[in-house]
Amino acid sequence: MVMDEFVLGSFLASLFGFFLIYILFLRQNLNMKMKEEKEEDRTNGESECVRRSINGECRPQSSSDSDVIIVGAGVAGSALAHTLGKDGRRVHVIERDLTEPDRIVGELLQPGGYLKLIELGLEDCVGEIDAQRVLGYALFKDGKNTRLSYPLEKFHSDVAGRSFHNGRFIQRMREKASALPNVRMEQGTVTSLLEENGTIKGVSYKTKSGQELQAYAPLTIVCDGCFSNLRRSLCKPQVDVPSSFVGLVLENCELPFANHGHVILGDPSPILFYPISSTEVRCLVDIPGQKLPSIANGEMAKYLKTVVAPQIPPELYDAFIKAIEKGNIRTMPNRSMPAAPHPTPGALLMGDAFNMRHPLTGGGMTVALSDIVVLRDLLKPLRDLNDATSLCKYLESFYTLRKPVASTINTLAGALYKVFCASPDQARNEMRQACFDYLSLGGVCSTGPVALLSGLNPRPLSLVVHFFAVAIYGVGRLLLPFPSPKRLWIGARLISGASGIIFPIIKAEGLRQMFFPATVPAYYRAPPVK
Ligand SMILES: Cc1cc2nc3c(=O)[nH]c(=O)nc-3n(C[C@H](O)[C@H](O)[C@H](O)COP(=O)(O)OP(=O)(O)OC[C@H]3O[C@@H](n4cnc5c(N)ncnc54)[C@H](O)[C@@H]3O)c2cc1C
Repeated sequence: MVMDEFVLGSFLASLFGFFLIYILFLRQNLNMKMKEEKEEDRTNGESECVRRSINGECRPQSSSDSDVIIVGAGVAGSALAHTLGKDGRRVHVIERDLTEPDRIVGELLQPGGYLKLIELGLEDCVGEIDAQRVLGYALFKDGKNTRLSYPLEKFHSDVAGRSFHNGRFIQRMREKASALPNVRMEQGTVTSLLEENGTIKGVSYKTKSGQELQAYAPLTIVCDGCFSNLRRSLCKPQVDVPSSFVGLVLENCELPFANHGHVILGDPSPILFYPISSTEVRCLVDIPGQKLPSIANGEMAKYLKTVVAPQIPPELYDAFIKAIEKGNIRTMPNRSMPAAPHPTPGALLMGDAFNMRHPLTGGGMTVALSDIVVLRDLLKPLRDLNDATSLCKYLESFYTLRKPVASTINTLAGALYKVFCASPDQARNEMRQACFDYLSLGGVCSTGPVALLSGLNPRPLSLVVHFFAVAIYGVGRLLLPFPSPKRLWIGARLISGASGIIFPIIKAEGLRQMFFPATVPAYYRAPPVK
């Protein structure tokens, strides 16, 4: 009996022991499973970020593999791609033609633009392309000339204007952008923007091999240049084409003023010369209106030989005639278009697609590069660009922050072109002569306007002051030593003509944004918190 009790006790104790061991085993298993599940959760969480990031940053994964799509790799697109790529964005650039462009545009970069190039870390792109330093302008009128130097004294000796072959400069910037691992440059033609509920989600494009593809990104930046097909939905384009430039290349000749741009105040309109390499000089002849003499039937060559050649400096005459006879005559419409954006979530316009001015003062690239600096600084605090609506609201400040540089250069280009054109109106001709003589006075009368033109002093108010100083100088000369009723009348028309030139341009630029940017609410937009 005692034995039976012992066996039963042992059996129950063993059963209990097994039960305990079983419970312990189960708990351990459960713990391990939970641990595994936790580990799995953690790795899953990590995979929500893209690891292909610069500087170990981790970004939330979106439905696309780019942060930004850039349409067009010209001056604006390639500089922007490098800038955003350097800031760690995954950039997809789609460019219609990746071979070296051969154009007559964008060949003289003002010193203000060169400073922006330095800010963007792209100054080496004017190296190794036989670019020439530009130190100022020489102005010619009726056999007289005056030299206007850029006020560069306060800057490093490297700072000056640069002139070059546009295509060589663009190729250097494209190469530099493509060298970044997070910038993908693809040849393709963008055919449309992809929109969903008012937000741009990406683009449709045709690849080099003719394949139709779509690319998606939280932000699409359209930089497709002056003939932009895509800007229509993103702005209100009001394009004016006051004239065209006819381009020639003069070979192996010396400019009267080495390392200077030359502006001849010709009739009917200005003629430009500047070096684009150590052996070549670009000549751009402005022809007002939209109808050009035909190149094919020889009318253009005849016009250049009979109307233009007699007005150019004698040192350049032979090379000019040779260039006409060589026959490589190119033309390009001179377009101007004030910036009039429709802020659209998911998209932005930059470069000539967004804003254009007459190329007389060579300001287009300076504005584009300056805009890129403004945009870069605005985007810098944002890691995530996915909230398109907040981003769009925030980026409205871009349109005001860019104004000092853009509106100064735009207004000066438009006003100077009108002042520099010959006219049958005596008051307009007085203004033109007054401008030449005012600039020839030297001191602040030449450095002030040249600082504005070169992008070194982006102050719209200073521009207005100099513009009306020229007009008052013109009137003063008319009235001295003895005013006559006729002279008084011409003086009054000169002032009214000057106002008629500058005020419409200022109105198109936006009076408030130009002179009182701090009163525009968008100026103070803070980055969206996310
Ligand atoms: C005659 C003339 C002379 C000028 N001279 C000067 C000067 O001396 N100095 C100066 O600062 N400015 C000058 N400018 C202005 C200057 O050229 C422009 O401001 C500058 O080139 C603008 O750069 P961008 O990138 O906007 O356009 P672009 O440099 O023209 O680049 C646009 C790019 O977009 C690509 N593209 C177009 N459509 C598509 C598409 N659908 N899909 C994909 N890619 C596309 C094009 O192939 C091109 O590469 C001049 C302008 C003219 C007309």
